[in-house]
Amino acid sequence: TVHGAWQRYRSVPIIYRIATAFVLGSIVGLVVGEPATNLQPLGDLFVRLLKMVIIPIVVFTLIMAARNLSPQNLGKVGGQVILLYLFTTMIAIGIGLVVSNVIDPGVGLLLEDAMAKSAVETKESPGLGQVFLNIVPENPFGAMAEGQILSVIFFALAFGVGLTFVRDEAEVGSSVYNGVETIFDAVEAGAEVTFKIVWGVMEYGVIGVFALMAALFAQTGTEAIFSLFKLFATLAIAIGLQISVVYLLIIVSGLVGQSPVAFLRGGKDAMMTALSIRSSSGTLPVTMSNADENLKIDQEVYSFSLPLGATINMDGTAMYLGIAAIFTANVVGRSLTMAEQLSVLVTALIASIGTAGVPGASIVMMTVVFTQVGLPIQAIALVLGIDPLLDRMRTMNNITGDLAVTTLVAKWNDAIDFSTGVWAGEGADTG
Ligand code: ASP
Repeated sequence: TVHGAWQRYRSVPIIYRIATAFVLGSIVGLVVGEPATNLQPLGDLFVRLLKMVIIPIVVFTLIMAARNLSPQNLGKVGGQVILLYLFTTMIAIGIGLVVSNVIDPGVGLLLEDAMAKSAVETKESPGLGQVFLNIVPENPFGAMAEGQILSVIFFALAFGVGLTFVRDEAEVGSSVYNGVETIFDAVEAGAEVTFKIVWGVMEYGVIGVFALMAALFAQTGTEAIFSLFKLFATLAIAIGLQISVVYLLIIVSGLVGQSPVAFLRGGKDAMMTALSIRSSSGTLPVTMSNADENLKIDQEVYSFSLPLGATINMDGTAMYLGIAAIFTANVVGRSLTMAEQLSVLVTALIASIGTAGVPGASIVMMTVVFTQVGLPIQAIALVLGIDPLLDRMRTMNNITGDLAVTTLVAKWNDAIDFSTGVWAGEGADTG
């Protein structure tokens, strides 16, 4: 019966349904070609649905975090998270540079091809001072409306911490005390509701991901991949190393001391979503839900670390900036000196912090890095055709890095439960 078929469909874990849609959509895009681009709106709908819940989740979970965490601990957790984010990103760029020095992508390609293609707009990266100043919103609702995650984090934390101060100063049972507790309870319920919505959205994701992949391959075809295969392979290998050596080592080593398989199973919905929609920020609701429901990390840690990570921690992106620099140097027949590669490392680190986790963000950052070491901006046009493919790999790496650091910090602060969820071999496949 129809009902029975639906039941059977629903009993397959959502991640496998989405993965199947990913593959089928790619094939349909390649086979059908041009007409499949008409499916794009169905894919855009999925991305919009996810974006819809980003701000509510960030606000709700951060206010909850303030309820459970003292300001001192918040500072401690925050410091650990930020330092580890910087550290893992530097390693990622290092790996990217080493792998591309070995593989040497771009040798034999000609810049004239690139010049013929569309011009690339350059953008100035804002100064460091301005970046910090911008974290404080002039208007919190404006920040929420514009989706400025760092500003939303700032306000939500200030509001949450303010609530705890008011509560602690009020007499137990007074109307102010009860009011604060009511707000906290309502916010907790709000967080649960938004997670429910995420899983509803993921059900639609089966259609959305199919459409996104079909539309992508209808446009890109396989041509671009072949001509830039070495670049593609360089990034794939570097990401493989970053995930298997850096992240999984963090997980299995004495630092966390857990099963790498459990970690990957726990984060696979987020990884798959990142591959599909190419945006760390867009994936954020799924990443947070995976941290909460599968990896059993306490809200106090992930509510802060994951939105922050989606904005400032982009290992895959930073790594790619290094790779792209070597690639372009090869294209124009130059080789970057050690000092230049170091300056690429520093610039890529800063650029990756300063840009939001949106599709194709790297393209803007490449202009910053290239300008720094005097590489021709026009060369970016060479890689534009294949960027949608590279971008999804970068984004997947980006959010996996957020989850790895979050797991480690959670472990350090006794804010993770290894006896349930994926760690205990259950619960990863349900939504
Ligand atoms: N799309 C990436 C992200 O959202 C950023 C980039 O590398 O372009 O994390």
